[in-house]
Parts: sequence; structure tokens; C-alpha cells
Amino acid sequence: MGEVRPNLCNQLNSSGSRVFIKGSFSEKYFYLIDDYAREIDATILSFEKTGENEYIFVFDRTIFYPGGGHQPYDTGKLTIENNEFIVFKVERKGDEIYHYARVMKGDAQIDKGQRVNMRINWEKRYHMMKLHTAEHIFMKFIRERGYELEGGSWGPDEGLIIFSEELPIDILLEAENKTNEIIGRNLPVFRIIKNGYITIKIADFDERPCGGNHVSATGEIGFFKITKIERRGKTIRFNVGEKALNYLAKHYNDFMKFGLDTLMLRQEISPNTIISKLVEIATNLQKSQTEAEILSDILTKVITSKVPETGLIIGEATYNGVFLDLSDLNLSPKYLKNLGRRLQEASMDKIYAIKLSKESVAIFLKRSKKFFKAFKNELIKTLKNLSIEKEAKISSIEGGILIIAPKEKIEKIVKKRE
Ligand SMILES: [Zn+2]
Repeated sequence: MGEVRPNLCNQLNSSGSRVFIKGSFSEKYFYLIDDYAREIDATILSFEKTGENEYIFVFDRTIFYPGGGHQPYDTGKLTIENNEFIVFKVERKGDEIYHYARVMKGDAQIDKGQRVNMRINWEKRYHMMKLHTAEHIFMKFIRERGYELEGGSWGPDEGLIIFSEELPIDILLEAENKTNEIIGRNLPVFRIIKNGYITIKIADFDERPCGGNHVSATGEIGFFKITKIERRGKTIRFNVGEKALNYLAKHYNDFMKFGLDTLMLRQEISPNTIISKLVEIATNLQKSQTEAEILSDILTKVITSKVPETGLIIGEATYNGVFLDLSDLNLSPKYLKNLGRRLQEASMDKIYAIKLSKESVAIFLKRSKKFFKAFKNELIKTLKNLSIEKEAKISSIEGGILIIAPKEKIEKIVKKRE
């Protein structure tokens, strides 16, 4: 076992099977010492003016990752006495790290040996550390299935992986799920240096040579999501943490609609199964307006296409229509409003009786005002005939009529003809 340094990471080339550090594990490459160093002081070893306001600096030590191994270089700021520079590019040449900087403030009167305060763009770097560590985990599962990586980049905004061949979607999604499991286990991430070689070890789960920056525990990644599958699975884009969640939030309604539509298309699935799925969704959803609309939309599809037409006994008369017991769904008035509107739009000649609870039934119909009025009067007459006009209630709701009556009586007002 070599020297084990938790919370640390490395760079250098990623070609070959092992990553090797020339010379000793020195402070010169400070990004190898501490991935979490956002700011340090250093000394100017050499510099060169390359343009009007542009310079290249070499320091005795640096926290700027110079790029390589698919991880982009860091950007950031330098303060040298009264001068401020932005570092817009970093590059490794031989053993030296070149910092390409532009003067932002000051007269740039600088000398070798001067002290410099350097700060990296931490938000950008930390995101790349998460992307990079997520890639280790994800690719471990992909390699287990016999596929290899051909290229990619872990940042700055998103991850990109190019495989050597097209990957089936089920393998990608399986690896995505398993990656999130590893993230959830919050496994420690170590850098191991042995005989000048560096490997990155994620607990007992994975160890491989690597040249970039990583987080110190998998939980820091937060969440992993494939955001795009391109070229029939030869290329994927992914993101992590908040950016992955933002992606999900943005596409949440599309996902849900897609899922429910897919469910609808499967003929072997019974209306009851779909409805119980909807119960599950309705229970779990934060009930936003959009979700209410989507749920109403899919409910309308179920009701109009999957539930068979029946004889409906309403009051004294019998009509053609659909009877559906949705009392398990606990539909809020918001849903009911959307549902009523959609059901009305759906059919001219049918009447929809929707049982909302043990004591209430909503009836939606698209008929003339005259018919609607007569229909309502018939119902009021029914209440009188049953002598429940005091304990029962009939009222107009969005696009229909709501009947509330004691549960043992409501069936006498509205029921399905057996
Ligand atoms: Zn790595």
C-alpha cells in the first residue's frame, strides 16, 4: 500500500495504463495536494508579455488545473500587488504550468520573485470535480458491460462521454441507476500514490489511474442524470447535482406525460391499473396547476377511451354514458375543474358520472342550456321524491353538476344500470 491521501486528487496525462508523476509529489502542482484549495499565495518564477494586456506566468506552485484527462483547465484571478489579472487559459508544457492572464486593473509593473495571490473559479471547478467523479462511477458500470470510452469532457457545464460503439439504452439507464446508488452510499474517494504512480480509489468499489480533480466522497455529487443520448447511444451528455435536478425539473412534466401516455398505449393494462397508478401519482405529486392539467388530461383519456359506455340511471331517467368510481383519487377542486372542462370537450352525446367520494358524484355533460336546466330540475325532483331534499344538495360546478348526499342514498340518485 502506498501513501494514501484522502480528499486529494491529481492531474498529468491519462494516456497509458498508469498515471505517473515525474519527480516527487511536490507542492509545485498544488492541485495535486488539495483539490479543495481555492486560494493560495505563490511566487512568480517567470513571465512573458505576449500582447497588449496579456501575459504568461509560471509560478513556484499553483492551484490551477492545467487541463488534461478530459477535465478542462481552471480559470480564475491573480492579484500581484496593485495589479489584478484574470486567468483565461492554463496549459501544461513539459513540467511547467503556463497561466495565460489578462490585466484587469493596475499598470502591470511586475517582477520575477514577486508574491501572487491566486484564486480559482471555485464554482466551476467544484462542478467539474463532481462531473469527473460521477464519470468514474458511471464508466465502471459501463465497462462491466463490456463497453469502453473513446473520448469526452467532464465540464465545464456538463459531462460528455463518447463511447467506442453505440450503447443500448437499457445499459445506459442501468448504469445511471447504479451510479446514483453509489452516490447515495457516500463512499470515500482517495488518491493513492505508489512509486510515483497515482490512482483514484473509491472505497472498495473502484480504483483506476486518473489525472483530474475529484470530490472526497461520492455523496457530494448529489445526483447523476443522463441528459441526452445522441448518435444511437454512441454519445451521451450528463450532469450532476443541482444542474441535474434543474434539468429534471425543467423536463418533469414532459417525463410524466410521456410515462402516462406510454401507459395508456399498452392495451393489456386495465383501466383499474391505470387508475391506481394515477392514485399513486396524485398522492405523490405536489399539486401544481400544470400537474392538475396533465392528470386531468390523462384521466380524460382513460375515461373516454378505456371505460366502457353503460346505461346511467340518473334520477328517473336512463342515459347513455360512462360511470367511473374515482373516490380513491381524492380529486381536489382544481383537478375537478380541469377534468370537467375536458370531459365536456370530449363528447356531445355522452353523460359522464364520476364518483368523487362515498357521498358525492359529479356529472359532466355537453348539452344545450335548456337541456341542462331541465336535467337539473329533474334531479331536484328526485331529491324531493326520496325525501332527502334537506340532507342532500345539488349544485352547479365547472361544466357540470355536483350531487352530495348521504352515502346510502346517493346510489338512489345516480347509478350504473346493471
Ligand atoms: Zn478521475
